[in-house]
Amino acid sequence: MMHKRYTTSQVKQIINASGDIFADNSINILLTDSRRISNPSGAIFFALSGRRNGHEFVAEAYNAGVRDFVLKQQPEGYFPEANLLIVEDVLLALQKLAAYHREQFDLLVIGVTGSNGKTIVKEWLYQLLSADKNIVRNPKSYNSQIGVPLSVWQMNEKNDLGIFEAGVSTVGEMDRLESIIKPQIGVLTHIGSAHDEGFGDRDEKIIEKLKLFKNCRLLVYNYEQMLGYKEEIQPPERFIWSRNFNQADLYVFSEAVIEKNYYLRAMYKGDEIECLIPFKDEASVENAIVCWATMLALGYSAADADDRIERLTPVSMRLELKNGINDCSVIDDSYNSDVQSLEIALNFLSQQNQHQKNTLILSDIYQSGLQEDVLYKQVADLVKAKKVNKFIGIGAALEAHSNLFEVAEKSFYPDTAAFLNEMHAHPFRNQTILLKGSRSFEFEKISRLLVQKAHETVMEINLNALLHNLNFYRSKLNPGVKVMAMVKAFSYGSGTYELANVLQYNKVDYLAVAYADEGVALRQAGITVPLVVLNTEVSAFDKLTEFKLEPVIYSFGLFDEFIKHAQDNNIFNYPVHIKIDTGMHRLGFEDFEIETLCDLLEENPYVRIQSVFSHLVASDTEEHDLFTLKQINAFEKAFTQIEEVLGYKVIKHICNTSGIIRWPAAQYDMVRLGIGLYGIDACIPPAENLLQPIATLKTSISQIKKVLAGDTVGYNRNGSLAKDGRIATVRIGYADGYLRAFGNGVGTMLIKGQLVRTVGNISMDMCMIDVSEVEVKEGDEVIVFSNKHPIEELARQIGTIPYEILTNVSQRVKRVYFYE
Ligand SMILES: *Cc1c(COP(=O)(O)O)cnc(C)c1O
Repeated sequence: MMHKRYTTSQVKQIINASGDIFADNSINILLTDSRRISNPSGAIFFALSGRRNGHEFVAEAYNAGVRDFVLKQQPEGYFPEANLLIVEDVLLALQKLAAYHREQFDLLVIGVTGSNGKTIVKEWLYQLLSADKNIVRNPKSYNSQIGVPLSVWQMNEKNDLGIFEAGVSTVGEMDRLESIIKPQIGVLTHIGSAHDEGFGDRDEKIIEKLKLFKNCRLLVYNYEQMLGYKEEIQPPERFIWSRNFNQADLYVFSEAVIEKNYYLRAMYKGDEIECLIPFKDEASVENAIVCWATMLALGYSAADADDRIERLTPVSMRLELKNGINDCSVIDDSYNSDVQSLEIALNFLSQQNQHQKNTLILSDIYQSGLQEDVLYKQVADLVKAKKVNKFIGIGAALEAHSNLFEVAEKSFYPDTAAFLNEMHAHPFRNQTILLKGSRSFEFEKISRLLVQKAHETVMEINLNALLHNLNFYRSKLNPGVKVMAMVKAFSYGSGTYELANVLQYNKVDYLAVAYADEGVALRQAGITVPLVVLNTEVSAFDKLTEFKLEPVIYSFGLFDEFIKHAQDNNIFNYPVHIKIDTGMHRLGFEDFEIETLCDLLEENPYVRIQSVFSHLVASDTEEHDLFTLKQINAFEKAFTQIEEVLGYKVIKHICNTSGIIRWPAAQYDMVRLGIGLYGIDACIPPAENLLQPIATLKTSISQIKKVLAGDTVGYNRNGSLAKDGRIATVRIGYADGYLRAFGNGVGTMLIKGQLVRTVGNISMDMCMIDVSEVEVKEGDEVIVFSNKHPIEELARQIGTIPYEILTNVSQRVKRVYFYE
């Protein structure tokens, strides 16, 4: 069965657009990102204006073969064969089309919202109900104004149940999502007590969320959470669960931890029933109760519900990029397989440039609602479009459709065991491997063999947060201002090509590194954007020109040497950057040198000046604002002189992170974004949540000891507890970057949500913390820093700046990159 198709003229009518139709095409794919085109035929591109203007991408999509467009205005350029549908509001048009599509189906739809647990509850309901239903749901956590229409668009005739989550960030958004999802049954998950940004207060937030349920016949919710909101609850039927109120439909009266599980007893319709949850953390227990209540509300028996809940498995929404064996990178997505999430994972795979080769290991896909030949044709098209070099298909259905796959190397196995037996025949070396399998194929067995074992201290890097921060600063830029992303010093300690891949994919204009070697490493990992080397050394000229790295010229001596190098090697018009010293007194030409510099630049055939820049010494501090102004004035004077002799325009830039917001008039043509990318800005307090710290440094407890008051702890007997208590030894020391200055109670770590102090001196590979007041055991996770225990706080503790904390994390600490 195919996805329902619409013609261009039908779409035009549904979204109420103007514009001429060149050819009435058949449409079944919605596109909102021109980089993600895998199959242009049947696709319609919505030019959403957001962080970047979607209209810029029309040409890219057109060249890729897309012929149908929804736009706010006529695009610039010549698109003779395109159908250009013009509307007032492109996002609203996307939503209208999805809402229309929804109306074509008469199936039961469950709508899920709340402030926490939406995605988990949706995924668990999917796990629990898919034994007897063919379910359509949001891929991952696609629950936004754009995500929901794309999710609902997947609905087809085979589905007999929809489960959609909806997330809102401000008042007025839920009505739109409701009109697309049109749920008949509502499920409300946990509502936090804080009011999120975007809402005036908690009332406003709850009332907005409840709008999802305004046309529902039944709502499942927790009694305590909705006390005081009776009036606002619209659905006539309610299924209420509670841990206190004995008149609730499901009254949970007894709870106990049994090893790794959580055992619940409850009253339901006058009977005592029970349920075993295979998790015991608070959030999972609550989410599981919500699912339990929902199953009962849907009419499942208590026995069925218990039986299925016991088999719930963790939901991993992350795509993790890990170091693999033999220099491989492994993207581990081995719990989940459908066409939508395959496409998301393949997009992530295709962003990786560090290896020559991309491999996909895929299992059969269950429950797509499509006929097998249609499904696997789609999969094969995707695999081809995303330029997978090697394909390994596992499962009978893939094997049966092996002829559909056009890949340089392909092989097929009936099941996971057969593949594991033959795995030695595949030399996995120096490639990026995406592992994507349905749960029953147990791909974790393959993952265990491919992924390098991690030392237990890891730094997790959240690539979504990186993107969030990039977009935050982009939203602060004057129109047309370019971004140079500073990735020097292992991207401030966070990684190399892993971050550069994301930045390149998201079209930053330049990357900057400190030394040529860092640039060479990025080039060798497939990074192709213009790359600037800040600390140019004469000895690295050969490498610079071989790898197309653009040097910064900061002195006459360096300039002369570079010209000589160019002459010796027959190089002309080589792109270079001129640094002006306006007050840092570190590197750069000073004001009295500009004239001589201009003489050298005049009609110089060897170099082409790409940019002229300077660096602010205190863009973040008010106290030095006058000095900053002086720097800006000196910079203007210098670049005006230089541009005059050159006779062409150069890119001018002076702002670092803090300058972007504090000195918008000095953004000129480009800004150099450093620490802000990593989620830190001296002018933005962490509590404002405008930025997302990208790094979390975690370790674990290797041993716990009882110590008496007066016992000493660690080298030189510097530490002790005031009264009898317990200390935990954790696997991080000064060789990992946890400096000795943090010792003896100066530093804190976060364990089970509680801050605890260090005891005694920090050792090379470990240190001790006071856990007298916390319930912990060996192996428990300890957070050194995270968004809950910010780097800014650590910096304050030892009197330094966040930059130093980040870049100190040593290379022996494994980095794990993830993408949610
Ligand atoms: C590191 C660096 C930056 C970035 O500074 P942040 O404060 O991290 O944004 C900008 N310009 C130059 C020349 C740098 O060396």
